[in-house]
Amino acid sequence: MQPVANVILKKGKEESMERFHPWLFSGAIDRIDGVVEEGDLVSVQRSDGKIIAYGHCAIGSIAVRVFSFGEALPDDSFWKHRIEQAWLLRKRMGLTDDKKTNVFRLIHGEGDGLPGLIADYYNGTVVLQAHSVGMWLVREAIVEALKSVLGKKLVAVYDKSTKTLPFKANIEAKDGYLFGKSSAGEVMEYGNRFKVDWEEGQKTGFFIDQRDNRKLLATYAKDKAVLNMFCYTGGFSFSAMQGGATLVHSVDSSAKAIELTNQNVELNFPGDSRHESFVADGFDFMQDIENKYDLIILDPPAFAKHRNVLSQALQGYKRLNAKAFQQIRPGGILFTFSCSQVVTRNNFREAVFSAAAIAGREVRILHQLSQPVDHPINIYHPEGEYLKGLVLYVE
Ligand code: SAH
Repeated sequence: MQPVANVILKKGKEESMERFHPWLFSGAIDRIDGVVEEGDLVSVQRSDGKIIAYGHCAIGSIAVRVFSFGEALPDDSFWKHRIEQAWLLRKRMGLTDDKKTNVFRLIHGEGDGLPGLIADYYNGTVVLQAHSVGMWLVREAIVEALKSVLGKKLVAVYDKSTKTLPFKANIEAKDGYLFGKSSAGEVMEYGNRFKVDWEEGQKTGFFIDQRDNRKLLATYAKDKAVLNMFCYTGGFSFSAMQGGATLVHSVDSSAKAIELTNQNVELNFPGDSRHESFVADGFDFMQDIENKYDLIILDPPAFAKHRNVLSQALQGYKRLNAKAFQQIRPGGILFTFSCSQVVTRNNFREAVFSAAAIAGREVRILHQLSQPVDHPINIYHPEGEYLKGLVLYVE
């Protein structure tokens, strides 16, 4: 690896980098020695010339995404070393050899020291999503590193970056297999089977990040009438059925998602008449659910992808949760989530708190949920904590 340019910081703007925050904002840059294009490897230097980091440069307010701190230039084994670390963490957490779960996130961007890169493992197939041009440009090296670290555990690598790369990037990305080939497959999570279509599905094909929360839900489901709102492939619905729910309604606005949910229900609970699904808008569906459900799951898509729509997003969470609080049966349980990165834990809690007040119900917090161990949060990058959930008891 050789940096093509040196990014020199303004005097007094070193602090964040020296505290290992992996994002360098453009406002902290004094000048760039050299000509850079998006995705190039650059060194980051203090105003006195000392090199403090290496990263990929980008266009926009985050000007450099740092993957290596310190003076030493990362060598060719760098990607392999990082992926080894990521694999080892999952192994130590018992995910790589679990007989009942064979789907997990292997690389979680900043959380695994690889800003701009996501890799999800689906029983042998790794689905890559580059969020930065820099990571997309090194994808072949990442594949080689994956082959070397995973060995026989790797069957194929599918690159699905076209939707996640910055849309202004001047590159011609195409989705496709970078190694081997596999087609839409079946995975298992705590013994539940899921059909996953990484080529056509949302994100990398499955919302892996709710694994632990789905498991918790099962413990609350016995004898309950359950509404799984924003169900996607139906994950929470099976947990509810597994846990002994008497009735489960799955709702999503995407007909494709509902089709997958139905297929998955058939796979796990063939002929089980407790389940019914609906293609509908969440807000519409919740107009009229008075006293119908004891357990409601609200896992909407990110309402705010950018900070400038934060207050609008918080209104959205408030309205949605108010509908649930107003209509859930007495003694009901609400599992409510936000996966918007710009919505902080406190923002979300306040929105839910306001919703409870609108409904005038007595509400207690039973659990405060987050993302699982395969979505680790780099302690120097608090922005990585994106999934927030509350389990609430409604009197
Ligand atoms: N709970 C799911 C993940 C939810 S992702 C799981 O455990 O896998 C969010 C889902 O909300 C997507 O499937 C998307 O199709 C759906 N969605 C988006 N807008 C919607 C709306 N207005 N009404 C209903 N569903 C919506």
